[in-house]
Amino acid sequence: MDSPWLVTAALVFGVILGAGAFAIVLLAARRGQRAADVISISVPDGVDQVLDALESAGVVVDPSNNVVKASPGAMAFGLVWNGALVHPELTALVDRVRRNGDPITEELTIARGPFGDASIHLFVRVARLGARYVMLLAEDRTESHRLDEVRRDFVANVSHELKTPIGAISLLAEALVSASKEPEQVKRFAKRLSKESERLAGITQEIIELSRLQATDALAKAEIVDIDQVVASAVDQNHVAADARRITLASGGDRHAEVYGNQSLLIVALHNLISNAIQYSPDRSRVGIGVSDRDGVVEIAVTDQGVGIPEDELDRVFERFFRSDPARSRNTGGSGLGLAIVKHAIQNHGGDIRVWSQPGNGSTFTVRLPSAAASTQKARA
Ligand code: ADP
Repeated sequence: MDSPWLVTAALVFGVILGAGAFAIVLLAARRGQRAADVISISVPDGVDQVLDALESAGVVVDPSNNVVKASPGAMAFGLVWNGALVHPELTALVDRVRRNGDPITEELTIARGPFGDASIHLFVRVARLGARYVMLLAEDRTESHRLDEVRRDFVANVSHELKTPIGAISLLAEALVSASKEPEQVKRFAKRLSKESERLAGITQEIIELSRLQATDALAKAEIVDIDQVVASAVDQNHVAADARRITLASGGDRHAEVYGNQSLLIVALHNLISNAIQYSPDRSRVGIGVSDRDGVVEIAVTDQGVGIPEDELDRVFERFFRSDPARSRNTGGSGLGLAIVKHAIQNHGGDIRVWSQPGNGSTFTVRLPSAAASTQKARA
């Protein structure tokens, strides 16, 4: 090859090589810059402190949707995981704000954290923060939503529960009219009529009791309550039902225990526990009511040898209108409100109630209340 050609070829090759190397260096520099942007945690002045002080959830994301700052609340709600927003619903809101520029306010129901299927209800506001960032603020509305649901369920349940005996009463009344010439039939229908109306009266009474309980605070006008008297009255009220089934009611344990609260509420609570123990027990069995007063805690346990409660229903028996076996419970006249009333009454006294049960082996409901003696000693100390 001629030497001028050789020189030109070498020159061209050199230029191409140089340009390639330059392009590679430039690209690397750009990528480096982008990487630096992604991990940069510099957000506008003051935002850091505001997020740290924020009780609710607050998150700042950069243009690549990396979380550059999150309030403790956002971590607690499980909104952020591995430096990114967990929920695609929230990421979609952020993207929308970045595209349109306008702030968004929305209510969302999203999964609680990256695992499990519980959900939380959030009131979310998303807006731009300067030219680069987007800020997301979320307020937890789960509790108020739950309360709304409970109220709606309660109204629906009450109307459903009342509809059944009311329907039965109107059918029986019609049957009475058409059987007016047959005295035996009239007697039978009239008997069932009075049973259904008793049931209706019972449910109405329990609904009123439960609403009253929810509105009152047993400790607002608390008096010293003698637990011996509470047990004696509750046992007394159940004697007729127990005798009819030859069930023995045996009470015992520590005497003279005292708590602060409302005597009639505590009698209602214990009455319901004993009445359940009788209802769900076989004839000629035994129901025990034991009191213990130790270490500042008064414990009242009601034990039966009855049918028991399946394990998966143990948590639910305190819900309003919950009945383990609706058909069986309806035969015994139950409304499913008894234990909800007990739970409210006991919680109103600053106590709690627990249940142990095994199908076939009976159940024990244990109420725990703060002892009045311990409170007085504490006050004196
Ligand atoms: P109910 O009016 O149906 O008795 P409760 O609220 O008192 O309503 O009780 C709810 C459910 O819990 C009952 O339907 C019954 O299935 C179950 N249960 C309550 N107490 C007992 C018990 N001592 N033994 C077995 N099951 C019980």
